[in-house]
Amino acid sequence: MPSVASAAGESAPVRLAGATRSELARALADLGVPTGESNMRVSQLWRWIYHSGVREFPAMRNIAKPLLAKLAERCDLRRPEIVAEQVSAYGARKWLLRMPPAHAFDKGAEIECVYIPEHDRGTLCVSSQVGCTLNCSFCHTGTQRLVRNLTAGEIVGQVMIARDRLGEWLDTERAKGPGLPTEGDRLITNVVMMGMGEPLYNFEAVRDALLVVSDGDGLGISKRRITLSTSGVVPMIARAGAEIGTMLAVSLHAVRNELRDRLVPLNRKYPIEQLLDACRNYPGLSNARRITFEYVMLKGINDSTADAKALVRLLQGIPAKINLIPFNPWPGTKYECSDWQQIETFSEIIFNAGYASPVRTPRGRDILAACGQLKSATEKLSARERLALRAMAMTD
Ligand code: SAH
Ligand code: SF4
Repeated sequence: MPSVASAAGESAPVRLAGATRSELARALADLGVPTGESNMRVSQLWRWIYHSGVREFPAMRNIAKPLLAKLAERCDLRRPEIVAEQVSAYGARKWLLRMPPAHAFDKGAEIECVYIPEHDRGTLCVSSQVGCTLNCSFCHTGTQRLVRNLTAGEIVGQVMIARDRLGEWLDTERAKGPGLPTEGDRLITNVVMMGMGEPLYNFEAVRDALLVVSDGDGLGISKRRITLSTSGVVPMIARAGAEIGTMLAVSLHAVRNELRDRLVPLNRKYPIEQLLDACRNYPGLSNARRITFEYVMLKGINDSTADAKALVRLLQGIPAKINLIPFNPWPGTKYECSDWQQIETFSEIIFNAGYASPVRTPRGRDILAACGQLKSATEKLSARERLALRAMAMTD
């Protein structure tokens, strides 16, 4: 939880929106709340913050005034700052968010967060880092250097912003508009860690954040509806299963090491065989809890019929879903998206091998926006972006 020392030596307010239980307990201890009271106070605050989404301390009606006064003096309920918001005709929303400095020498950082609604669900695509160290050759984020890891609070903060903007708190009015889910009572039903960054290179913050997001008394989005996507940080996969326990998506993208080395350079460290072994051992893996393998469709690179057949063979025995992602081009890239016909052929081979058809209906694709290509700039969601995001929403 950031408490930034200013030049004058004063501490900035402690941010409680996004805090974990232990961070809240620490903040309360610092305010002199006796240990015996701490658990009860944490639970009360937690509800106000994560069920009601309150933004002012006086709204916390069951908390004694003296404590509220201390909280207001030393803490705040601020979210990351929204620099820009775009709403597409399809109801997709994209927020450019500015994170406050995490320490005295940090200038702050900008990230994007995207909401993708469908009639029966709403998926929020969340970032774990500003930039990425991994340099996958087809990924725009990979061309930016890593600015910094996000804190747990900043990761939770992205979900809170989306709830703020969609009016999805207890006793608040829901956002209305075209494209929003009409089934069920929730607007954000799924969270995917598929924005900027490699979540398993920011393990502790991502874990702590997802435990707040999935906690029934926290933001209450079930772990089965949260997907963590990794480019294949093999040593952390078992820990992710044991300590976080969400659904897992693996960015495979190639069936041969020689090609994957070029697309996902991390493959040189953790080749395909090791990655798939880690997947086979993923805690909780079963036919009901499959791993999603992401496969970006790059024209003439990894999209042949032979590749599709090899992919099916490679994944044999692993409870898996396959998610074909149309490549989302960016200025300066050397890759092109596979032809639509080729994506369909590829998809058919996978479908015939018993995997649910991963490329969806045009109407479905239409309402989505891009996620794999997030960068810190505002721009309109292009048709291609929408396509790519649709494929990535993977929320069945
Ligand atoms: N770093 C993690 C999660 C973020 S990227 C990972 O790599 O898995 C989320 C997904 O978007 C990954 O599968 C990634 O390979 C894919 N992706 C990245 N750039 C893309 C692009 N330009 N077009 C389509 N998908 C892309
Ligand atoms: Fe990083 Fe994922 Fe992009 Fe690779 S695909 S550079 S791991 S964000």
